[in-house]
Amino acid sequence: MIKTISYLGLGTMGGGMASNLLKAGYELTVWNRSGEKCEPFARKGARLAESPADAVRDVDLVMYSLSNDQAVEEVVFGAKGILSGIKEGQIAVDMSTVLPATSLREQEAYIKHGVDFLDAPVFGSKQESADAKLWIMAAGNKAIFEKVKPVLEHLGQTVHYFGKNGNAAAMKLVGNLIVALELEALAEGLVLAQKAGLDLSTVMEVVKVADFRSPLLVSNGQNILKRDFSPSFALKLMLKDAGLIERFGNSLESPIPALRIVQKNLELAVALGFGEENASAIIRAVEKEAGVGVKARRVG
Ligand code: NAP
Repeated sequence: MIKTISYLGLGTMGGGMASNLLKAGYELTVWNRSGEKCEPFARKGARLAESPADAVRDVDLVMYSLSNDQAVEEVVFGAKGILSGIKEGQIAVDMSTVLPATSLREQEAYIKHGVDFLDAPVFGSKQESADAKLWIMAAGNKAIFEKVKPVLEHLGQTVHYFGKNGNAAAMKLVGNLIVALELEALAEGLVLAQKAGLDLSTVMEVVKVADFRSPLLVSNGQNILKRDFSPSFALKLMLKDAGLIERFGNSLESPIPALRIVQKNLELAVALGFGEENASAIIRAVEKEAGVGVKARRVG
């Protein structure tokens, strides 16, 4: 049974997950590149590690949620990285959104150390992470998955097993392709509704109940009407994911024409200075092209 866990990467997603591991009673060690993010965890009883290699010392399970493939590269493979400290019999779980090829590279490296590895990315954002309501996918050895599953159940509302390593990372990119297109559809739809002179509050009431409804459209649509772009899922991360989806799609010769349009709008929004805002700020690119700003108002 898993009792001791290290969590590396205490950003928007990792911070929520690490808090929930403490709440669930696990003995926790934390590490973050910017040390100040570790302090609230120290006050709640977590051990603070000085490096990834130090963090993984003597724990049953090592988990991490890092920005991108580059960050995983540095934290896992770098000097004082996880691989320089981890020992046979330990388990590592990467919860970041990365290329399936990166997950496979991690697995190969861990095997050489006698370490089992799962790729286990998540759906949901800041709130779902804080509330332990994530939707988690995991891939790797089935017996190891069964061992780690009770831990994942403290972090999410669902946990799906996807078979061999890399498959959960692939599912995450499939899902984020759909998310990206939904956000683009919402942005184009709201701009069109604004140009048509519709009452956008009523538009959102229909979006909430119609057969094309989705929680993602509702929460992002409502925030756009309030012009609230505070980040749950940063636009720059959505652009990073669009790049991963493009590479993944190309590697399988699977067409992604609509994604290319989203990518162009994400790039424009970043160029306009909105990369740190929520991904819903993709609408700023559509608004620029349309020459209007979307806002709620009553008509008539
Ligand atoms: P975030 O808030 O930006 O946190 C990123 C974390 O990665 C921070 O701990 C950061 O450390 C660390 N990091 C970045 N570059 C690093 C490097 N070179 N070396 C060491 N540490 C590094 O991002 P997030 O929103 O939590 O996202 C984390 C992962 O989950 C990403 O792969 C993202 O695509 C995925 N994800 C996010 C969401 C979401 O809604 N936010 C949803 C699902 C999946 P510092 O604190 O020092 O910067």
